[in-house]
Amino acid sequence: GNMVYFTQKEGIAAVEGFITDITPIKQTEQALRESEEKYRLLAENVTDLISRHLANGVCLYASAAAEILLGYEPKELVGKSFTDWCHPEDKSSLENFFRQLEQNLGTEPITYRIRHQKGNYIWLETTGKTIIRNSAQKVQEVIAVSRNVTNRLQTEGALKQAEKQYKNIFENISQGIFQSNLNGQYLKVNSALARIYGYISPVELIESISNIETQIYVYPESYRSLASLLENNKKVSNFESQVYCKDGNVIWISENIRNVYDELGHFLYYEGTVEDITYRHQAEAKLLYNAFYDALTGLPNRYSFTEQLENALKTSGDSPNFFYAVLFLDLDGFKVVNDSFGHLVGDELLKQVAHRLKSELRHQDKIARFGGDEFLILLDDIQTFQDVITVAERIKDKIKLPFNLGEENIFTSVSIGITCNNLHYQKPEELLRDADIAMYQAKLRGKSCHVFFNPQMQQAILAKHQLANDLHYALEKQEFCLYYQPIIELNTRRLKGFEALLRWYHPVRGWISPGEFIPLAEETGLIHNLGDWVFRKACRQLQDWQQQYSQAESLVINVNLSVHQLKEIDLVSRIESILTAHNLLAKSIKLEITESAFLETVAYQASTVQGLKELGLGLCIDDFGTGYSSLSRLHEFPVDTLKIDRAFIQALDSSHTAIIQTIITLGQILGMDVVAEGIETQEQMEKLQALKCEYGQGFFFAKPLDSIVASQLITSPIFQAISN
Ligand code: C2E
Ligand code: CA
Ligand code: CA
Repeated sequence: GNMVYFTQKEGIAAVEGFITDITPIKQTEQALRESEEKYRLLAENVTDLISRHLANGVCLYASAAAEILLGYEPKELVGKSFTDWCHPEDKSSLENFFRQLEQNLGTEPITYRIRHQKGNYIWLETTGKTIIRNSAQKVQEVIAVSRNVTNRLQTEGALKQAEKQYKNIFENISQGIFQSNLNGQYLKVNSALARIYGYISPVELIESISNIETQIYVYPESYRSLASLLENNKKVSNFESQVYCKDGNVIWISENIRNVYDELGHFLYYEGTVEDITYRHQAEAKLLYNAFYDALTGLPNRYSFTEQLENALKTSGDSPNFFYAVLFLDLDGFKVVNDSFGHLVGDELLKQVAHRLKSELRHQDKIARFGGDEFLILLDDIQTFQDVITVAERIKDKIKLPFNLGEENIFTSVSIGITCNNLHYQKPEELLRDADIAMYQAKLRGKSCHVFFNPQMQQAILAKHQLANDLHYALEKQEFCLYYQPIIELNTRRLKGFEALLRWYHPVRGWISPGEFIPLAEETGLIHNLGDWVFRKACRQLQDWQQQYSQAESLVINVNLSVHQLKEIDLVSRIESILTAHNLLAKSIKLEITESAFLETVAYQASTVQGLKELGLGLCIDDFGTGYSSLSRLHEFPVDTLKIDRAFIQALDSSHTAIIQTIITLGQILGMDVVAEGIETQEQMEKLQALKCEYGQGFFFAKPLDSIVASQLITSPIFQAISN
């Protein structure tokens, strides 16, 4: 038949040639036939399928590539149309392709799926040209060159997919992306950038900003330095700056930007990513804040205060007339508030104290929370000591006013230690140390005192260390003994029992008051052994008395118990075994526990208190009225005895009887004995009797006595006040 053979390129070129140059010539068919041999080999050896078709698409000839491409022998294709086994979805477009060729309308190559002999579809791209026309210029035959483009399409598809994905990323990534030019305008931005900057859409952002430097950057100079970095380094990483959002809000961003050039190396635009790091900056700022501020009160902390002291030291070094004072404040009884009302109330109190302190100071004064219930104040540039005293007094008065915490009105006070820069300080720590020492002295003087530091106090501190050291060996050197102070039934004057009081005979200093060494023993932990010694000693004494005197059978010895002892886990069992060892009934021993120690243990060591109670020991609240438990919490303590603090007994002199009256009445209602301690005068005793207070103790009856003198009292049935 009429056949033509081309290589892919040559074939197309030849066909082109026919159409443009030779087609009009009648001898076309002849010429083709002549070329037949020439191109046969070529056509048969190319991988593209070359085929001839009637205008309606029926195949007249197919090259050998049919085998490779479609799995059919060329002759199998002849007489059939490609539209017969192309993909149904592509059928109409393939028909259309041939129709256009038939009408001699130029066509683009067509890409369509056709079924391989094996059943799978492959993609073919077919270029068609009309080659033979009859006299009526009607197309008679079509030459088609088809190639397998499956791979190419797959690659293209992947690319398209990638492009789509990139676009997706560009639009959906949380990072802002932009391209901008040297004039400071955006060329392209993604939705994330628009969102970060508070714009509705990328378009809005692009159109709103004509000058990035001034409209976006809070500090235009940071944009300029960014630009110069880009000029020098071509890229910039993690550049942090503050920018304006659409609504005027300022946020922190971090940018990675690079220059983009064309193939010839001409600058095209900047391209960069933007991350909103406002949150991170806030977190960092918060960290920084926490490093220098106290989270609870919002006051500067000790570190920032130390810096302030550093400044003050420097200023006073430069100008000798610069005078300042450091006040070390410590709330009185804060621990008790915390223990009885809970930490939330304690925290709230600290906040209110901080607020009150702040409002008492001039703005140039510095205040800080040192920790716990301790505050620091730096009075800057003052004139005289009197000024410092005035401030200290004012602070003390203000803190004495009640604090309203929820339903409670809480009273507290503050002890203040003061040091001034007349003492030639070099370092902030020295100022703090001395103010602290002075504060400690203020505490020793009682509540709501202020004390100026003097160098002798340093001595006192050293002496305290010495004493602690001595205390350590006092037990094994047997320097302790117990004294016994009688407790009397007021109406009958009968001896009810004794309170055992610890005494230390120091080899150098002589008798040292427990008021001085008990806190030291508590600080050093020695209290555990010491307390144990006291309890055994008291038991042995009572055992002795009971063995010697029949009158001693109902005698009770009161033993003071430190709050630290209450925290010993084996306290109950140890006490039980000591009692057994001394053959004593538990009710012969009464433990005195201060009101504040009760408050502290009711919450945490309730089981210890309960265990002691179950052993059958008597429990007595010591120093009642000094804590914060107030009368309303009395029923929470499983106690048999209330010991009214000496302060109330003294108050009787100025006829303040109302409180004592209430305590006594309440004690009676709750079934507790009431003991008044620190009775020093006949008058106090009579008033207490009139108030129906049952028991008493104090110098009026007897001072604490050594065991020999105490023994003599046991045998005299009616106790007569003895004047010491
Ligand atoms: P406290 O338990 O309140 O003991 C009463 C204190 O008041 C005793 O002081 C006593 O001598 C004193 N006192 C008694 N009657 C009068 C009076 O009419 N007027 C005045 N002004 N004072 C009077 P002391 O013996 O110096 O004890 C002081 C504190 O030391 C005690 O206070 C107690 O808290 C503690 N303490 C004493 N011995 C021990 C002990 O063995 N263990 C523990 N943990 N603490 C003890
Ligand atoms: Ca006591
Ligand atoms: Ca007491």
